[in-house]
Amino acid sequence: MNQIKSRDNAEKAAVNLLKSLAAPFRIEGHEITIGASIGISVFPHHVSDNDDLLQQADSAMYAAKRGGKNRICHFSADLGVSVRERLTLESELRRALNEKEICVHYQPEFDLATNSVIRFEALARWTHPALGVISPLSFIPIAEECGLIFRLDAQVREQACREALTWQEISDRPIQVAVNVSSVEFARATFVSEIVEVLDRTGLHPGLLQLELTESSTLTGIQRAAATMEQLKSIGVGISMDDFGSGYSCLSYLPKLPFDELKIDRSFVSELTTSPETKALVQSILTLAHNLKMKVIVEGIETQEQLDLIRELGADGAQGFLLGTPGPDPSERLRQLRRAIVDSHTGKLELAISSAEVGG
Ligand code: C2E
Ligand code: MG
Ligand code: MG
Repeated sequence: MNQIKSRDNAEKAAVNLLKSLAAPFRIEGHEITIGASIGISVFPHHVSDNDDLLQQADSAMYAAKRGGKNRICHFSADLGVSVRERLTLESELRRALNEKEICVHYQPEFDLATNSVIRFEALARWTHPALGVISPLSFIPIAEECGLIFRLDAQVREQACREALTWQEISDRPIQVAVNVSSVEFARATFVSEIVEVLDRTGLHPGLLQLELTESSTLTGIQRAAATMEQLKSIGVGISMDDFGSGYSCLSYLPKLPFDELKIDRSFVSELTTSPETKALVQSILTLAHNLKMKVIVEGIETQEQLDLIRELGADGAQGFLLGTPGPDPSERLRQLRRAIVDSHTGKLELAISSAEVGG
C-alpha cells in the first residue's frame, strides 16, 4: 500500500484486493467465500490528520456496504453528514437497547384455507424521545454493521416468545410467533443454542416459533445454511424464507434448503392485479414452492382485490395492512374476540378475528 501515489492507484489496489478475496478457499473441508467493502480517503485532499483520514475511509466503507457489499467507495463531503447521522444513530441505538426503548409490535398472518390467524410476526419498533419514530429499515442495517443486532434480536425474540406463551391461554387454537433473523446472526456458531435457550427460558413450545430468514442468510454457503436449518428443524421450530423474490434469487439453492414456507415479497403485490406478467410470476413461484412441499404466504396485501386474486392463485396464507397492521401485544384483541364469541355463540373465533382485522 506504501506505493500508492494517486487516487487511481488506490482504486486499482482496492480492485486487486477484491479480486484476490473473491476466490473461494477451503477450511476443514468447507468451501468459504468472503467479500469486502472498501472505502478510500485520500491525504491531503480530504483531511489534515491521520484520525480524520481513517474516519473518512470508514465512512466511505460504510457507504460501500450500504451500496450492496463487495464495492469500493471514495470518500466525499456529503458522506460525512450521513456518517455523523450513522454514528448518532449507533450510539442512540446502544442507549435505547440498554434502556429497553425498543419495543415489539405484532402483525397477524392468516391461513387462507381456514381464514384463521395462524401466527403473529414480531416487528421491532423504536420511538426515539427526540427523533421520533425510526423505521427498522433504518436502524436494522446500522445494528447489523455495528454488531448491536445480536442484542436487538435477542431482546425481540425473548419478549416475543414470552408474549406468545400467553396467547395460547386465550386462543382456542395454537398461535405461532414469527421472528426475523438477521443474516449476521444466522451465521454465528452459537445461533442454534441461543434458540434452544430462549425456548427453555420462556417455556414456549418449539412448534410455536417460526424463524424468518432472508436470502442473504444463505450467502455464507448452502451446505452450512442447510446444516443449521436441519438442526433447527430437529428441535421443532419452523422456518420461512422472507421477502422471497426481492433479491437476485438463484433458484437452484431452494431444493437444498428445508424451508417450510416462502413469503412472497410485497413488491410483487402492488402490480399483481394490473400486470399479467407479475401474476404469471407469482403463479410460477406458487407452483415451484408447492412442488417442493413449501407453503406460500403473500406479504403486503392491501386490497380485497389482491386478497381474492392470491386466494384464486392458490396461496396458502396472507399478511398485510388489509388483514391487520402491526400493533402492540395482541392478547387483549384475542381476549375481546373470544369473549364476544362466548357471549353471542355465533360464528367461529377465526372469522371474528379476520373480520375485526379487515381494514386494520
Ligand atoms: P419484513 O420481515 O418483511 O416485515 C414486513 C414489513 O412489511 C414490516 O415493515 C411491515 O410493517 C410491512 N408491511 C406489512 N404489511 C404491509 C402492507 O400491506 N403494506 C406495506 N406497505 N407494508 C406492509 P417494518 O416493520 O418496517 O419492517 C421492515 C423490515 O425490517 C422487516 O421486513 C424485517 O426485515 C426488518 N425487521 C423488523 N423487525 C426486525 C427485528 O426485530 N429483527 C430483524 N433482524 N429485522 C427486523
Ligand atoms: Mg419478516
Ligand atoms: Mg418480508
